[in-house]
Amino acid sequence: MRYDPDMLSFDVCNAARLRRDPRYDGRFFTAVKTTGIYCRPVCPAKQPLTRNVAYYPTAAAAEVAGFRPCLRCRPETAPFCPAWNGTRSTVARAMKLIDDGALDEGSVVDLAMRLGISSRHLARLFARHVGATPRQLAKTLRVQRAKRLLDAGDDSMTDIAFQAGFGSLRRFNAAFAELYGRSPSSLRAVRARRTQRAADDRSEKAGTEIETVGQAEHEHEQRSSRKQSGLLDDERTRRRGGNNGFLRNGHDGLSIMSSKNWPR
Ligand SMILES: [Zn+2]
Repeated sequence: MRYDPDMLSFDVCNAARLRRDPRYDGRFFTAVKTTGIYCRPVCPAKQPLTRNVAYYPTAAAAEVAGFRPCLRCRPETAPFCPAWNGTRSTVARAMKLIDDGALDEGSVVDLAMRLGISSRHLARLFARHVGATPRQLAKTLRVQRAKRLLDAGDDSMTDIAFQAGFGSLRRFNAAFAELYGRSPSSLRAVRARRTQRAADDRSEKAGTEIETVGQAEHEHEQRSSRKQSGLLDDERTRRRGGNNGFLRNGHDGLSIMSSKNWPR
């Protein structure tokens, strides 16, 4: 691993991913180079080829490398379990403080002081063990909090922005759109439509849910294939709210949503 010589090796991560081992959930994240998406080791989506994956110790590191969170396995719901000890407990403490909001208003210098180290040393520790700066980690954690709130209920966007630690609705919208490629309200609207459609399917054709799921999976397979029609590309670009330069086929999350796997 490029960040931490003591971190799990590629082979350990790869074996854990291939068997979808829940013991590794939160300990590493799998980035899929062909789709631009990163996942938890337990993601139920079709397994990518080993040559197309890279492993990161944190969600923040995967995001710094340009990957988006999977909408299916929802990395924001992975357990917080950095498997570190010894000198790295400083990093774990720092991560915990940041998770508690230490950098939503406070400064990195203040955080380092609370930990009893210099901010330069804190920066070095993060570069080595986290794969992101303290500020980048704070940003990831804020968006994760907001995403969980967005999925959990019907709070207003303003409430979510402030509860998640954003200073303003505008900042929340910008950070969210930068990461997910769409606004938080459009993601919620999509969820509401899909949920409604699933409910309609259930009430109109009781017992056909399995069929619906099967079709969605099949659709996913088709989108994953390399023979993409121009129409599909246009559709994806439109759904995503514009193409930001990343190659994101198939494993886009939205394209594989179904009544079964949509997070509730
Ligand atoms: Zn996933």
